[in-house]
Amino acid sequence: MTVAAAPGPRLLDSLQEKYSRQMLFAGIGEEGQKRLLASSAVIVGCGAIGAAAAGLLVRAGVGRVRILDRDFVEPSNLQRQMLFDEDDARTALPKAVAAERKLRGINSSVAVEGLVSDLNPRNAEELLRGFDLILDGTDNFETRFLINDFAVLSGKPWIYAAAVASYGVTMTVRPGLTPCLACLLESSTSCHGLEETCDTVGVLGPIVNLIASLEVAEALKLLAGREESLHNRLISCDVWTGHFQSVRVAQNAACRACALHEFSYLEGKAQPHITLCGRDSVQIHERGRALDLGALQERLAATVSDVRHNEFLLCFRVDSYQMTVFADGRAILKGTKDPAVARSLYARYIGA
Ligand SMILES: [Zn+2]
Repeated sequence: MTVAAAPGPRLLDSLQEKYSRQMLFAGIGEEGQKRLLASSAVIVGCGAIGAAAAGLLVRAGVGRVRILDRDFVEPSNLQRQMLFDEDDARTALPKAVAAERKLRGINSSVAVEGLVSDLNPRNAEELLRGFDLILDGTDNFETRFLINDFAVLSGKPWIYAAAVASYGVTMTVRPGLTPCLACLLESSTSCHGLEETCDTVGVLGPIVNLIASLEVAEALKLLAGREESLHNRLISCDVWTGHFQSVRVAQNAACRACALHEFSYLEGKAQPHITLCGRDSVQIHERGRALDLGALQERLAATVSDVRHNEFLLCFRVDSYQMTVFADGRAILKGTKDPAVARSLYARYIGA
């Protein structure tokens, strides 16, 4: 009797068959494929970009893929979120659960794990630790800066990816070797630039899938050991205007995260505090964020109901909730006691 330690010839044959076109590509080859099979990635957020990225990674044979998401599938997701279908929306299946089921049927040799979870400073270490790479599939900057803090602190690479309307951006962060997200977005001359959200100005299927493709191409280079092929640039594209841009980003010598090692998001200091506020309502405390309520009303008018504002506040209804937002960014949400719901609705309609 022999002990089966290595994959038998039959398994090797099936791997050769499954990944043959990818292994024929000179940038991957047999050596790169072996590395992919032995690698792992965690995707934070499984909306359009996350779902597309998950599909590409699992098909490519990345050995272990974890998917984190706090939301459930809704009919309005199906126009762009390629992993989900009408059944998932009808049954309001959590995205992490629906994604895991679909992906297991696509490539059963990958260890796919879907976790219904909201990444926060308290669980970041537990959820992100032990993976070779972190991919951005989130819809808000609070979570992106949390990922950036964790990645810089632990020396793990991550890939930033975001899209809204017909426009998207992506950049690979390798701590110690490249600028980080805080270098890019926290310097005095720049702002987030994505105050709009997909829930206010919409988003096209082609841009999220394009950005996910660019993100996963970088992921494959990293996981296959082809770091020399990384483009080391911030890529932005607009599929409506046809404007594509690729720029080098400078490292900020005074960067809070990668230079000064102040991990304010990971320590939870920068997270908005959410507190219970009366019966069935919560308050979201945002510090010192000046909102243009008139502009906000214009943005929200098409997507929510009963929007009205005065110089102090703006309120609107969405589903069974009523949200009141103050000019300094503070908000009160009536209709729930759940901080996760409040955080999600705030990110969706006010911006992160
Ligand atoms: Zn930095």
